[in-house]
Amino acid sequence: MICGENMTETARQKAIIKVLRTEYAGVRSALKFADVYQLLVAVMLSAQTNDNQVNKATEKLFSLFGTPEAMAGLQPEELEQYIKTCGLYKNKAKNIVAASKMLLKEFGGEVPKTRGELMRLPGVGRKTANVVLSVGFGLPALAVDTHVLRVANRLGFSIATTPDEVEKDLCRIIPEKWWKDAHHWLIWHGRRVCKAQRPACEECILNSMCPKKKVSDK
Ligand code: SF4
Repeated sequence: MICGENMTETARQKAIIKVLRTEYAGVRSALKFADVYQLLVAVMLSAQTNDNQVNKATEKLFSLFGTPEAMAGLQPEELEQYIKTCGLYKNKAKNIVAASKMLLKEFGGEVPKTRGELMRLPGVGRKTANVVLSVGFGLPALAVDTHVLRVANRLGFSIATTPDEVEKDLCRIIPEKWWKDAHHWLIWHGRRVCKAQRPACEECILNSMCPKKKVSDK
C-alpha cells in the first residue's frame, strides 16, 4: 500500500497520476459523433447538459444536419426543435448556426486545428476548444470542466478556482503526452467516485494519497 504521508509532494503527484492512468486506461468521451465537426457541435451542446441528453438530441440532428453546410442552412429557431432537451438551447442554437456559417466562410468548411482559431467561433470557449483539439485531433490539450476542477483541487494539484488557472497547474504537473487523456481520467474519477456532494473517499483508490480524503467524514 502506498503511504502518502511519507512522500514528497512531487512523488505523491506522480503516484496519483500513475494510479489514474492505470485505473482509467482507455476511457473515452461518452459523446457520440462521426467526425470533428459533429464533436464540436456535441461539445457546444454539452454545457450544463449531461452526455446522455446530448447524445439523444444529436442522434436525430446529425442524421439530418450533420455537416456545416446542412447546419448553416437552418434558422436558429429550426435547430431549437432538435436540441430543446439541452440547457440554454436557444443560445446554443444561435451559436451553432453562426459557427457553422463561419466554418464555411472562413475555414473552407473544416474545423480548424488551433485553439486561437477555434475560439473565434461563436460559442466556443477555451474548454470546448481544448476538447476538440484533444479528442478530435489527438493534440496535447487539457480541458478543465467542473469535474476536472473539483478533483484537481481535492487532490492538491491546484488551489486555483478558475478553469484557466487549474489548466496551467495541471499542465505543469502532468507530462504533455498525457494531457489529452488526463481530462478523461479526472472526469471519470469525478463522476464515479469523487462526486461533488458525497465523494466516496472510503472506496477511492487514491485515498492514501489524497489531502482531502476526509471530506466524506465531515
Ligand atoms: S479520497 Fe475522497 S476527496 Fe480524495 S480523490 Fe478520493 S474521493 Fe476525492
